[in-house]
Amino acid sequence: MVGAKCPKCRKGRLFPVSIFSFNKLIDMNKSCDVCQASFQPEPRFYDGAMFISYAFSVALVITVFVALNLFLEKPALWMYLSAIVIINLLLLPMMLRYSKVLYLYAVGKLKYQDTASK
Ligand SMILES: [Zn+2]
Repeated sequence: MVGAKCPKCRKGRLFPVSIFSFNKLIDMNKSCDVCQASFQPEPRFYDGAMFISYAFSVALVITVFVALNLFLEKPALWMYLSAIVIINLLLLPMMLRYSKVLYLYAVGKLKYQDTASK
Protein backbone atom coordinates (compact mmCIF):
# COMPACT_ATOMS: atom_id res chain seq x y z
CA MET A 1 0.00 0.00 0.00
CA VAL A 2 2.83 2.39 0.79
CA GLY A 3 4.10 2.07 -2.77
CA ALA A 4 0.64 3.00 -4.12
CA LYS A 5 0.33 -0.29 -5.91
CA CYS A 6 -2.76 -2.13 -7.12
CA PRO A 7 -4.65 -3.69 -4.17
CA LYS A 8 -5.36 -6.84 -6.15
CA CYS A 9 -2.05 -7.93 -7.65
CA ARG A 10 0.29 -5.54 -5.77
CA LYS A 11 2.25 -5.04 -8.97
CA GLY A 12 0.41 -2.52 -11.11
CA ARG A 13 0.82 1.12 -10.20
CA LEU A 14 -2.10 3.29 -9.14
CA PHE A 15 -0.61 6.48 -10.51
CA PRO A 16 0.90 7.03 -13.94
CA VAL A 17 3.47 9.59 -12.79
CA SER A 18 5.75 10.03 -9.82
CA ILE A 19 4.66 12.01 -6.78
CA PHE A 20 6.96 14.86 -7.79
CA SER A 21 5.15 15.63 -11.03
CA PHE A 22 3.02 18.42 -9.68
CA ASN A 23 1.14 19.13 -12.89
CA LYS A 24 -0.26 15.62 -13.11
CA LEU A 25 -0.77 15.10 -9.44
CA ILE A 26 -4.44 14.22 -9.58
CA ASP A 27 -4.04 11.81 -12.47
CA MET A 28 -4.67 8.21 -11.64
CA ASN A 29 -4.67 5.09 -13.74
CA LYS A 30 -8.21 3.94 -14.54
CA SER A 31 -7.37 0.30 -14.15
CA CYS A 32 -4.45 -1.90 -13.29
CA ASP A 33 -2.14 -2.49 -16.25
CA VAL A 34 -1.09 -5.82 -14.75
CA CYS A 35 -4.35 -7.49 -13.65
CA GLN A 36 -6.91 -5.08 -15.21
CA ALA A 37 -8.63 -4.49 -11.87
CA SER A 38 -10.66 -1.29 -12.02
CA PHE A 39 -9.46 1.53 -9.81
CA GLN A 40 -12.69 3.39 -10.44
CA PRO A 41 -15.47 1.05 -9.27
CA GLU A 42 -18.11 3.73 -9.75
CA PRO A 43 -18.31 7.36 -10.89
CA ARG A 44 -17.45 9.82 -8.15
CA PHE A 45 -16.00 6.93 -6.13
CA TYR A 46 -13.25 9.15 -4.79
CA ASP A 47 -15.54 11.76 -3.34
CA GLY A 48 -15.25 9.77 -0.13
CA ALA A 49 -11.49 10.17 -0.25
CA MET A 50 -12.04 13.83 0.53
CA PHE A 51 -12.95 12.85 4.06
CA ILE A 52 -9.68 11.00 4.45
CA SER A 53 -7.62 13.96 3.27
CA TYR A 54 -9.65 16.10 5.67
CA ALA A 55 -8.74 13.72 8.48
CA PHE A 56 -5.09 13.97 7.39
CA SER A 57 -5.27 17.75 7.63
CA VAL A 58 -6.78 17.66 11.10
CA ALA A 59 -4.09 15.24 12.26
CA LEU A 60 -1.49 17.56 10.76
CA VAL A 61 -2.79 20.62 12.60
CA ILE A 62 -2.77 18.71 15.89
CA THR A 63 0.77 17.47 15.24
CA VAL A 64 2.02 20.98 14.47
CA PHE A 65 0.33 22.32 17.57
CA VAL A 66 1.89 19.70 19.82
CA ALA A 67 5.34 19.99 18.18
CA LEU A 68 5.47 23.79 18.50
CA ASN A 69 4.52 23.56 22.14
CA LEU A 70 7.27 21.04 22.71
CA PHE A 71 10.00 23.09 21.07
CA LEU A 72 8.97 26.65 21.91
CA GLU A 73 7.93 28.05 25.21
CA LYS A 74 5.19 30.34 23.96
CA PRO A 75 4.63 29.97 20.22
CA ALA A 76 2.80 32.90 18.65
CA LEU A 77 -0.27 32.42 16.52
CA TRP A 78 1.57 33.32 13.32
CA MET A 79 4.01 30.51 14.04
CA TYR A 80 1.22 27.99 14.15
CA LEU A 81 -0.35 29.36 11.01
CA SER A 82 2.84 29.55 8.95
CA ALA A 83 4.00 26.13 10.11
CA ILE A 84 0.65 24.61 9.17
CA VAL A 85 0.59 26.30 5.77
CA ILE A 86 4.16 25.30 4.93
CA ILE A 87 3.78 21.71 6.02
CA ASN A 88 0.42 21.48 4.28
CA LEU A 89 1.97 22.63 1.01
CA LEU A 90 4.80 20.15 1.39
CA LEU A 91 2.54 17.25 2.22
CA LEU A 92 -0.40 18.09 -0.01
CA PRO A 93 0.70 15.88 -2.93
CA MET A 94 1.24 13.00 -0.56
CA MET A 95 -2.05 13.54 1.22
CA LEU A 96 -3.99 13.76 -2.03
CA ARG A 97 -2.56 10.50 -3.22
CA TYR A 98 -2.62 8.50 -0.06
CA SER A 99 -6.17 9.50 0.76
CA LYS A 100 -7.11 7.88 -2.54
CA VAL A 101 -4.91 4.85 -1.95
CA LEU A 102 -6.32 4.36 1.53
CA TYR A 103 -9.82 4.77 0.23
CA LEU A 104 -9.36 2.28 -2.56
CA TYR A 105 -7.88 -0.26 -0.18
CA ALA A 106 -10.60 0.28 2.40
CA VAL A 107 -13.69 0.55 0.22
CA GLY A 108 -12.64 -0.69 -3.21
CA LYS A 109 -13.41 -4.37 -2.54
CA LEU A 110 -10.28 -5.45 -4.39
CA LYS A 111 -8.86 -8.50 -2.69
CA TYR A 112 -5.25 -9.48 -3.01
CA GLN A 113 -4.77 -12.38 -5.42
CA ASP A 114 -1.35 -13.80 -6.02
CA THR A 115 -1.07 -13.72 -9.79
CA ALA A 116 2.46 -15.11 -9.71
CA SER A 117 1.18 -18.57 -8.69
CA LYS A 118 -1.02 -18.95 -11.76
ZN1 LIG B 1 -3.44 -5.20 -10.42
